[in-house]
Amino acid sequence: MATSSSDAAPRWLADGEAHVWRPYCQHHTAPRPLPVREARGSRLVLSDGRELIDGIASWWTAAHGYQHPHLVAAVAAQLQRLPHVAFGGLAHEGAYELCRRLATLLPAPLSRVFLVESGSVAVEVALKICRQAAANQGHPERRRVMAFDGGYHGDTFATMRLCDPVDGMHRAFPQNEADVLHAAIPSDDEEWAAFEARFAREAPSMCGVIIEPLLQAAGGMRLHSSDVLRRLRALCDAHGVWLVFDEIATGFFRTGSRFALDEAGVTPDVVTLGKALTGGMLPLACAVASEALFEAFLDDEPSFALQHGPTYMGNALACAAALASLDLFDDEGMATQVARLSGWLWAGLRPLREHPLVLDVRVKGAMGAVVLRPGAAPSSESYVQRGVFLRPLRLTRCDVLYLMPPLVLSEAEAALACGAIVASLDALR
Ligand SMILES: *Cc1c(COP(=O)(O)O)cnc(C)c1O
Repeated sequence: MATSSSDAAPRWLADGEAHVWRPYCQHHTAPRPLPVREARGSRLVLSDGRELIDGIASWWTAAHGYQHPHLVAAVAAQLQRLPHVAFGGLAHEGAYELCRRLATLLPAPLSRVFLVESGSVAVEVALKICRQAAANQGHPERRRVMAFDGGYHGDTFATMRLCDPVDGMHRAFPQNEADVLHAAIPSDDEEWAAFEARFAREAPSMCGVIIEPLLQAAGGMRLHSSDVLRRLRALCDAHGVWLVFDEIATGFFRTGSRFALDEAGVTPDVVTLGKALTGGMLPLACAVASEALFEAFLDDEPSFALQHGPTYMGNALACAAALASLDLFDDEGMATQVARLSGWLWAGLRPLREHPLVLDVRVKGAMGAVVLRPGAAPSSESYVQRGVFLRPLRLTRCDVLYLMPPLVLSEAEAALACGAIVASLDALR
């Protein structure tokens, strides 16, 4: 079928599309993806020359914008020396320097970094750390992990089980949930009392609790207060349960502070990082554990060692990108930049609170979300026509149209991005 868009499509797209299986895509009905020729700063350049602001920064990774010269130079230099070497029995400078620097950025006692290639695997490793530490300490019965409604922790089998059971993206995989306890995040004293009683009952079979601190991202851009995290920390301490913060989305200034745990003033036993770690250059993620957890693996018995080791663990190109990305995040102006961006997002989206289809408008750091009635969010095409690339989240209870742009977005670009959302929704009135 010849449509005008396929006529304009580059040859490689037409030739390859019979062989590509796209993510979260109903191929029977989905429109063609947009062919991207290159990307610069906050903008994607399509094969026909059109430029779009990337409102979601390549799934929240491209924090410094595309083709940042510092990142490009670091990866190019690494490529000349060593693109990759296995991490088993061998070591290279970039990975060791990266682990050391991450540990200095995180509060003590978070100090042991396990490098992997994707966020889902980082969460898997965090789960394995909690589970195996409990077993090593003589408590194999502590197998279960508590996770929260509205959460998202990845797409692999174990991480799917942690995602919101109703609203998550994995309804096609009903699970044996024996190892996962789902709970709602308590919101008032009465709910906390019930939650604490349940926690005390279940704790003897639990090794960990996992939460995305302050912002539950892919599960619907839902916010909670630091107080939730303080109370969870206290409960975990009281009952000998490890606390895991999944900061794959929130880390590196997305919520305003370097890590959400900095704003909360709460230190977990494990934190997972990913997404913006390499500034969108290469796939890299990690789980960072406390020294106490690490020590639970030390023994003369070889099988007490953490049983994990991905083939591309500590990839040298990815580590070089991450080190350069950390340099940019070290800029003193970063928090101020995000605070300014936050103000622009709020100014641009706030008027939508009066819109009849809008249930809520939320801004936190460099995230702005418009919550709509289910099915109400216009499709990506509507924003593309207005110069912005966006992908609304479609959940059972609501649609969430959100911006998680590069942190370097300018005021004019923020106005354009918010304006595209407002215009798309106004066209529905
Ligand atoms: C994206 C995300 C993951 C999964 O990361 P992948 O790299 O896509 O596997 C896990 N947890 C959170 C909070 C995320 O936002």
